[in-house]
Amino acid sequence: MNKKEVHKALAEIVGEEYVSDSKEDLYIYSRDPGLAEPHEADFVVLPKTVEEVQKIVQLANKERIPVIPAGASLSLSGLTIPYKGGIVIDLRRMDKIIEVNRRSRYVVIEAGVTHGKLKAFLEEQYPDLCHSLPEAPPSATVVGNLMIHGQGHLAQQYGFNSSMVTGLEIVLSSGEICRIGSCALGSYWFSLEPFPIPAGLFLGWFGATGIVTKAGLRLYPKKKLRDVEVFVVEDPNLVPEVIYRVTHTEMAEDITTSAQPYPLMFRDIVMIQIYITGDEEEELEFKRKLIWSSLRDIINSKEGGFMTLAPNMKIAFLERPMSNITRFADVLKGGGFVYCGAIIPIDMFSTALKKLFEIASRNQVTFSHTGRVIGRGHCMMFSFAYPFNREDPESMEKARKAIQESYIATLEIGGIPWKPEPPIQRVLLEKMPRETAELLKRIRSLLDPNGIMNPGNWSV
Ligand SMILES: Cc1cc2nc3c(=O)[nH]c(=O)nc-3n(C[C@H](O)[C@H](O)[C@H](O)COP(=O)(O)OP(=O)(O)OC[C@H]3O[C@@H](n4cnc5c(N)ncnc54)[C@H](O)[C@@H]3O)c2cc1C
Repeated sequence: MNKKEVHKALAEIVGEEYVSDSKEDLYIYSRDPGLAEPHEADFVVLPKTVEEVQKIVQLANKERIPVIPAGASLSLSGLTIPYKGGIVIDLRRMDKIIEVNRRSRYVVIEAGVTHGKLKAFLEEQYPDLCHSLPEAPPSATVVGNLMIHGQGHLAQQYGFNSSMVTGLEIVLSSGEICRIGSCALGSYWFSLEPFPIPAGLFLGWFGATGIVTKAGLRLYPKKKLRDVEVFVVEDPNLVPEVIYRVTHTEMAEDITTSAQPYPLMFRDIVMIQIYITGDEEEELEFKRKLIWSSLRDIINSKEGGFMTLAPNMKIAFLERPMSNITRFADVLKGGGFVYCGAIIPIDMFSTALKKLFEIASRNQVTFSHTGRVIGRGHCMMFSFAYPFNREDPESMEKARKAIQESYIATLEIGGIPWKPEPPIQRVLLEKMPRETAELLKRIRSLLDPNGIMNPGNWSV
């Protein structure tokens, strides 16, 4: 088929107004807000139903055209860039919240449902339930986040968001529609277990093994009250111990860390934000008390202490998602930032922070660190973040160098780069034992024999 024929075939599937190959429409799909080189797509399509996705993929597979599933393209590491051209499948018209099972605490959503939509829906219809909300802008999709093993405000208690999945519907590269979990046998989407769990063949694969069209996701109790305590230390070596003690109390909803050179009052300290929730003041007080006593001797030794928060600071800390993180993108007045999220053992916190300081100073860039404890301290996400000004090639180059060095530093300290950009994915594949890389290669070619699914990602 020539390009005109492909266009016609796509229009027959989704309708003329939901397919485009115009330069103006393709511009935004050729890049993401990070620093990866843009590449132009041939088409963008916006399907509304799983059957439409199925037909698009069947066409692409027959014609050997790459397909790139995209949510809001906010991963910042070039994961939706059409490196080999092809069809970007923007899933955001598939935005139905299909079902909430209140008692079994799960929701079933289509692939284009955004975090903002799900949060607003739950707040209105099910105020005692919530999903694990990342700090990403509200336009980011929930499924996009699952595909990159994202983490939200419940990660400390329940782990990566992808481990909260209770079922998946997937369109394979052949166009077959597959369901995984209890939804494969009946109408309930409550659990992946006790089957073997093929969901791992899709989660974390960046769309290189299939397109998720529906997902079941666990919901959790949302308490009426929420508060934050900020513990401050000067010595970063103390951070793992603080986290260990606080997680031992099992009283915190979320634990995040931050360090940044500006404003000056934040320089040379590490802040550990400890979030507590409760349905009543008494519950909050009880949790606060246990957390304070777990840190009592560190406070007594004057090695750390709780910060008194001015009301406006407290509001900023309690915002969900925190707009301060997005605002960091404009530190250089250019609206851009990149970050390497390193998944590290908690013990490596101070080593990672030292690396961040070294990288920032070597490259003369400003930086910010935010981190999130995952699963009671089993590991954490440690971000090395650098802003840049899109109008200033020099600042972009500095940020690019700093981010590359951060990926390498992550590996050096025994961490795993989270949602790495394709060149770093290749470094990881080269670094792992040949047999492991070979296994991943076999899985990918089994599920995508013609190499059409988000090419460039997890390619061996
Ligand atoms: C300011 C800021 C803060 C952030 N904070 C966080 C945070 O706290 N925690 C966190 O986890 N993330 C965070 N992120 C990263 C990211 O924005 C989120 O994880 C977001 O939810 C990703 O969703 P998306 O719709 O942008 O995904 P996309 O970038 O569109 O997609 C991500 C990957 O999944 C693939 N994909 C998308 N949809 C599908 C599908 N239906 N089937 C198969 N593959 C698919 C894409 O091809 C791509 O490879 C942050 C980003 C920014 C800009």
